[in-house]
Amino acid sequence: MIKIKALVYLGPNNVKYQEITDLKTKPGHAKIKIKYCGICGGDRGIVAGTHPRAKAPLVVGHEFVGVIEEISDNDKNLKVGDRVVAYPLISCGNCLSCRTGIPHVCKTLKLLGIDVDGAMAEYALVDESVLFKVDDNVSNEVAALIEPLAVIVRAIHQSQFKLLDSTVVMGAGPIGIITAIVLKHSGASRIVISDLDNSRIELCREFGFRAVNIKEESLKDVVDEMTNNEGVDIVFEASGTEPATFQSTELAKIGGMICMTGIHKAPHIFNLPQFSFKEQKMVATRVYTKHEFEQAVNFAKEIHDELEKLVSHIIPLKEGHKAFDYINDPNVNTVKVLLDCTDI
Ligand SMILES: [Zn+2]
Ligand SMILES: [Zn+2]
Repeated sequence: MIKIKALVYLGPNNVKYQEITDLKTKPGHAKIKIKYCGICGGDRGIVAGTHPRAKAPLVVGHEFVGVIEEISDNDKNLKVGDRVVAYPLISCGNCLSCRTGIPHVCKTLKLLGIDVDGAMAEYALVDESVLFKVDDNVSNEVAALIEPLAVIVRAIHQSQFKLLDSTVVMGAGPIGIITAIVLKHSGASRIVISDLDNSRIELCREFGFRAVNIKEESLKDVVDEMTNNEGVDIVFEASGTEPATFQSTELAKIGGMICMTGIHKAPHIFNLPQFSFKEQKMVATRVYTKHEFEQAVNFAKEIHDELEKLVSHIIPLKEGHKAFDYINDPNVNTVKVLLDCTDI
């Protein structure tokens, strides 16, 4: 029996590079030879054993780019050799969300790499209907960032952003920085981004953003000064932390919007009195629709060089377990870490 190499989650804090049985193509599915697979917060949760759904053994990974190696006849004009990314959501088709046109928040939503085997492997088997061809001008590094970019496309849609809105992005992880980049290209009048990690603040400054290290500067003072004490139109909370969540109401203007972009793993305190007093709005955002994913596929080439700067580490698949150690190590300055799945 032919085996392929994969990074397999075997239990809490136990992820191992090993051989698994080769994937047999089935009708309607393509066999993809994976090039890069990105690691995101969700993947860290899986490996830490805190993800509510992921069950070992599991091949992790949903942010990938690869080349079609086997595919049956299809009406999407996809062929062997095409470079593709995949919309990794699997919706049931029957629940209220699916029936009412928001299948990306399906009641039993499943994801490639969380509920079924994903892409931190030599190959992945993917439904043809979710594949998107990557433009020749988009590098593999940037293609691996299309999935997180889609998250931001959704968040900005949800926030009801309008041309020349002023914005604050709280948290300068990959999601926060990409949010700021997309806002810049979407015509935001002001973009302030905050974090407490110096290397990330430096990176934000290289992009030309007003970056605030909250250990050294008061974010509220910066926003007050910039907006004549009125607050910004939209706050994107992309840190997933309680202090940022609590502070969001004092940064947004009266009637302003707070977009909860980060993933909160626990109930966090929010300043409801101020929220009500200022008659603000809050909106949630979760993954993306298939159309928003497609928009991210197309938009990636417009912001290509900026996205490419976010890839801080490319680690061979065979050393994949180390990648998770790097990300968790405060002494290693990671931004976006990709696994090279051809390095086996
Ligand atoms: Zn992700
Ligand atoms: Zn459903």
